[in-house]
Amino acid sequence: MSLARVKTVTSNVIAIDGPAGSGKSTVSPLVAEKVGLEHLDTGLMYRVIAYGCLDQQIETNDPAAIGRFADEIEFEAMGNGVVEYEGQSLTSELRTPEVSKLVSVVAANEDVRNEMVRRQRIWVQSRGGGVLDGRDIGTAVFPDAKLKIFLIADLDERAKRRSQDSAESVEAIAADIARRDKVDSERESMPLRKAPDAIEIDTTGLAIDEVVAEIVEKWSKLNV
Ligand code: C5P
Repeated sequence: MSLARVKTVTSNVIAIDGPAGSGKSTVSPLVAEKVGLEHLDTGLMYRVIAYGCLDQQIETNDPAAIGRFADEIEFEAMGNGVVEYEGQSLTSELRTPEVSKLVSVVAANEDVRNEMVRRQRIWVQSRGGGVLDGRDIGTAVFPDAKLKIFLIADLDERAKRRSQDSAESVEAIAADIARRDKVDSERESMPLRKAPDAIEIDTTGLAIDEVVAEIVEKWSKLNV
């Protein structure tokens, strides 16, 4: 099915974008719970493709092969950071250094992006809305989302946050985050970018609950 033929339902969408470690994956499910919508971590969709490419030994220097793989791969994002793929429940397997290294390459592939955006729109359509976090939700996937949030935070703090669930050093994580942010911002297809009408929240030094409360308050004001 072509991308254009999947209708977008935007009245009930909260788009939460931002660079790696800015707090999206922590804050978004909590926001979703508070506002009574489901949550989709779109980063996990790109991660499972990178994982699958490694698992199935797809030629990662061949963009067409990666694109075909993305069209065919079957997986289900279950929430709570779990993706069902090939009979396995993947969690930490999607956050290894190998997957993190490959994911930005996979995510820069236009065929992969078109297919993932198509699936994200179907996901929202079948639920009548949702809270989606990613890089391009407010700019490309749901440019008419009712509420758009762009989270940022200092690189040091972002690396420290990610180091809490990783055996890697803070320095190695900071280097990986900086490299991915650069690739994600500079790619041609649907780059990481703040939508002009997104509300920016700097989460440096803020508690998770404070960020959640701010987003929920903005949503409530739109729905009075
Ligand atoms: O959010 P997370 O860090 O898990 O995302 C992993 C990678 O997936 C990002 O670095 C980016 O390359 C890609 N991504 C993307 N578009 C999204 C979500 C993630 O390109 N909407």
